[in-house]
Amino acid sequence: TAAAPTRPNPTAGGARREFDFSSLPEYEILKVWKAVGDLTHISNPFYRLHDGRASNTTSIDGRTIVNFSSYDYLGLNGHPEVAAAAKAAIDRYGTSVSASRLSSGERQVHRDLEAALARLSGTEDAIAFVSGHGTNVSVIGELLGPEDLIVADAVIHNSIVEGAKLSGAKRILCPHGDLDAFERALRLNRARYRRALIVVEGLYGMDGDVPDLAGLIRLKRRYNAWLMVDEAHATGALGATGRGIAEEQGIDPADVEIWMGTLSKTLAAAGGYVAGSRALIELLRYTSPGFVFSVGLSPPVAAAATAAVDVMMREPERAAALRRNGRSLLAKARSRGLDTGLSIGASVVPVIVGNSGQTIMLSEQLLKRGFNVVPAVFPGVAENQARLRFFVTSEHTPVQINSVIDAVAEELPSIRSNSSIVGAIVG
Ligand code: PMP
Repeated sequence: TAAAPTRPNPTAGGARREFDFSSLPEYEILKVWKAVGDLTHISNPFYRLHDGRASNTTSIDGRTIVNFSSYDYLGLNGHPEVAAAAKAAIDRYGTSVSASRLSSGERQVHRDLEAALARLSGTEDAIAFVSGHGTNVSVIGELLGPEDLIVADAVIHNSIVEGAKLSGAKRILCPHGDLDAFERALRLNRARYRRALIVVEGLYGMDGDVPDLAGLIRLKRRYNAWLMVDEAHATGALGATGRGIAEEQGIDPADVEIWMGTLSKTLAAAGGYVAGSRALIELLRYTSPGFVFSVGLSPPVAAAATAAVDVMMREPERAAALRRNGRSLLAKARSRGLDTGLSIGASVVPVIVGNSGQTIMLSEQLLKRGFNVVPAVFPGVAENQARLRFFVTSEHTPVQINSVIDAVAEELPSIRSNSSIVGAIVG
């Protein structure tokens, strides 16, 4: 009898490949970056493997490195009270609620968290989502539609841009911080649209500056628009007790329709939230797709964030320490002639280098000297605006702050004068 025909084993030698995604034109940019890295012997600054708890120090390849790339702004990640709350929540509920909260995923830890977030924000209520990015996409994407207008700052976070795209609303991006441009956009367009939304960040994650909230509130009243403020980098960093831009600028939180924040930075967890009026939160609870059709926050995550709010509000000295450190890093950088752009010296201080290749080289040199400062390059920022972004925490010491800025000031001139192959290739 003839031998049975052999059929290819789809899993032999790894997964069967139906399509080679590296043939996509979008993949070319990754190949270029890899080639530049190989030519210049500069290691990839992204997706580096860290070990342990990243705070003002981190561990990379077994070395302890001074770290300026953690959003743990008030040092609450791993705080004994925060960790104990997470562990107790696992013991009681396990690691998942295994359903959308709408159906059978509602737990007391969620209600406790939302009460704490409303207290922190000074609002009637709050709602917590499993992702900060997803919060913006889901909330903006659902509240606004094709008959609406969204006016946002040009350097607004990607999650807001994606939410605005999803909504199908008319989108206008205004030059960064230019209130006249916001006014013009509303004056020329408002009448043609049903709803209008103005979106800004409480503290801008790329530039470390703040919006003029009182001016924006005047605008939204004049043009009958809603105002949304993303507090991702402001919580813990602004205001005498770290409650954000409203506390910093003496604004009544009720004057802003939609407060948005993340649990992943100062609050030492993961997820996002919206705080606002009871009606807004109730509406989102029943309509926001990222809430209704997604699992409830994992219990240890919700409990950790709740404990982080409690510690932060009980110990305002943490926010004061962050502010001192932010101002001190900014002053030191300026004294060494570095370009810190618009930063006010809080949680985010950029040092603008300009050229993407030089910024990556600078980051690599700093790592060799024991400092982790991650570059922000095109397309995350405009082509000639590449920068190192320093995330300052309450935990940094004066020595760490002074020595990293000294290292930048020492390395930068030689990187600039060395018209390197990197600069030639990536411009
Ligand atoms: N908004 C802003 C301004 C952010 O910077 C970020 C993340 N860096 C997000 C939203 C998304 O938050 P998360 O990382 O918690 O998803």
